Amino acid sequence: MGKNSAIEWTHHTFNPWWGCVKVSAGCKHCYAETWSRRVGLDIWGARGERRFFSDAHWREPIRWNAEAAVAGIRRRVFCASMADVFEARNDLDLVRERLWTLIENTPALDWLLLTKRPEQIAEKAPWGNCWPPNVWLGTTAENQLWANRRIPILLEHPAVVRFVSCEPFVGHLDLSRWMIPRKGEHRINWVIAGGESGSKARPMNPEWVRSLRDQCQRAKVAFHFKQWGQWCPDRSDTSDGAKRMQIVDSFGKTSTIVRLGTAIGAFMCCCVGRDGR
Ligand code: SF4
Repeated sequence: MGKNSAIEWTHHTFNPWWGCVKVSAGCKHCYAETWSRRVGLDIWGARGERRFFSDAHWREPIRWNAEAAVAGIRRRVFCASMADVFEARNDLDLVRERLWTLIENTPALDWLLLTKRPEQIAEKAPWGNCWPPNVWLGTTAENQLWANRRIPILLEHPAVVRFVSCEPFVGHLDLSRWMIPRKGEHRINWVIAGGESGSKARPMNPEWVRSLRDQCQRAKVAFHFKQWGQWCPDRSDTSDGAKRMQIVDSFGKTSTIVRLGTAIGAFMCCCVGRDGR
């Protein structure tokens, strides 16, 4: 959380609270839970307490908004990196109300609300069919099962930008049916993809990423490849001794991926976007 986020597709992150409960395959190695436990907090699970913050914390976006307005440059705020703003707990409703008001009072900031619980949006968000122009609404699709469940619900809401985060990317995805606008329907505007990080990271098949990129290119949907994560395609410059694994793509072609760790995996992410293979 705080200013100058390390997440490259946003400028700031803001957390209305910390803590959550796991809901799907993408949560298996939740970094927010790992980080919370590392700093000694027991704030995970349905019965766990959540961690709340002071007024000073809540004033930070007001300052970012003023700076953005003076500079004449819109800034993106990712909300939330350590929670899910649509978690189905009534004891969070008052904090959520405070967040909605903050969003409305910071029109120079674009707020990115990413959730794995789009079924809660209609009840928890106050905007119905009239969303503020500074809210980008997103959901996670880590595999086709969760894409099928979540994306149609996301697209019911007329936010100015609707995005899908495919991270951690743990299964082949075909999102094309939600990229081509049908009469009277909203479509996905932006797709973000990335592999899983951490010591227990699940490998991402490079063919899944290329397929998703190609779907976006065909439909003229913005695509951002964030990182490979722990595993990336093997290359001649990779070090000996690194763990390798054979991957078979949907055409039956076998390729090798290598475990290099997050930093190098992120560095090599340009492989997909630049030369296409
Ligand atoms: S919804 Fe997000 S924050 Fe909550 S457990 Fe899953 S990955 Fe972690």
